[in-house]
Amino acid sequence: MAKFKLEYIWLDGYKPTQSLRSKTRIEKDFSGDLEDCPMWSFDGSSTEQAPGNSSDCLLKPVAIFPDPGRKSAYLVMCEVLNADGTPHPSNGRATIDDDDNDFWFGFEQEYFLWDLAINKPYGFPENGYPGPQGPYYCSVGAGKAYGRDIVEEHLDLCLEAGINVEGINAEVATGQWEFQIFAKGAKAAGDQVWVARYLLERTAEKYDVGINWHCKPVQGDWNGSGMHANFSNETLRTAGSKDVYEVILEAFRPVIKEHIDVYGADNHLRLTGKHETQSIDKFSYGVSDRGASIRIPIATVEKGWKGYLEDRRPNSAADPYKVAGRIIKTVKSALVPA
Ligand code: ADP
Ligand code: MN
Ligand code: MN
Ligand code: MN
Repeated sequence: MAKFKLEYIWLDGYKPTQSLRSKTRIEKDFSGDLEDCPMWSFDGSSTEQAPGNSSDCLLKPVAIFPDPGRKSAYLVMCEVLNADGTPHPSNGRATIDDDDNDFWFGFEQEYFLWDLAINKPYGFPENGYPGPQGPYYCSVGAGKAYGRDIVEEHLDLCLEAGINVEGINAEVATGQWEFQIFAKGAKAAGDQVWVARYLLERTAEKYDVGINWHCKPVQGDWNGSGMHANFSNETLRTAGSKDVYEVILEAFRPVIKEHIDVYGADNHLRLTGKHETQSIDKFSYGVSDRGASIRIPIATVEKGWKGYLEDRRPNSAADPYKVAGRIIKTVKSALVPA
């Protein structure tokens, strides 16, 4: 009889930013299939998801990955349900309207490795600042790239788990990095970003290094962290028409607030109109424009208006489920026949 470790992962109910929680369940002779992962429960009163006198919340397994960092183990991403089986208000995944996987998403997750002893980015000196930004982006070499051993270990774990990481790079600030994840299907993309975040937190634990997901952890002339959302659906991939693109893009203009509401906490600190961002209260789009809210990649235009769009506003701490859910809602609103 073989025993397996199943790590059930979910999002807590903290506002405005949810965090990862997880616990291990031992299963005998487990098949490795999602449908053989039982429903489970947890104490929602400890995660701001339920009152103490009625504390049970349910965990519904929705995606499974082998866990290469642990023997005989799996990572099981879960949705949180109320005791009556309805989606909990904290459950952004349940709000995604993409059951046919028409939407493809590529998320560019930026983050800071964080020196917990001095509460500064990994690579910052204890007192003062390192040299100004410039040499760190896509850098190599001690004194420029900090924490590569953590980043490499994380990349290997993601790939072995079957997460579709498309690339990594050192970012503009000291100790800041990025990974990109692409998936066909909005829910699958969100699942993979969350499990990749989980693996990053767990890997960095071993080095006693934190992960800072905040969108502007260092004030001053230091880049913030985003999570650009690249998206397409069948219409955008095949349109062949600038007009169709403009109808979809214009649908975003009247719902700035609805988007910003789910694009991550404290985004006003990052979306300032500087550092390759548009101001938080403005909406603009443009070909190759990294100062726009939504960039139209040049490749999309060169292919005759067939491709994807990049919403540059979501930040590093945003929930990819909620970001995807909102983008899908707005795109679909544009496509309803008049
Ligand atoms: P940049 O840093 O120039 O903005 P990246 O290469 O970091 O670009 O990220 C681009 C992302 O766009 C990748 O994650 C990629 O998977 C994604 N992408 C490419 N084509 C599509 C598409 N048709 N639909 C959705 N996302 C796409
Ligand atoms: Mn990128
Ligand atoms: Mn980047
Ligand atoms: Mn980008």
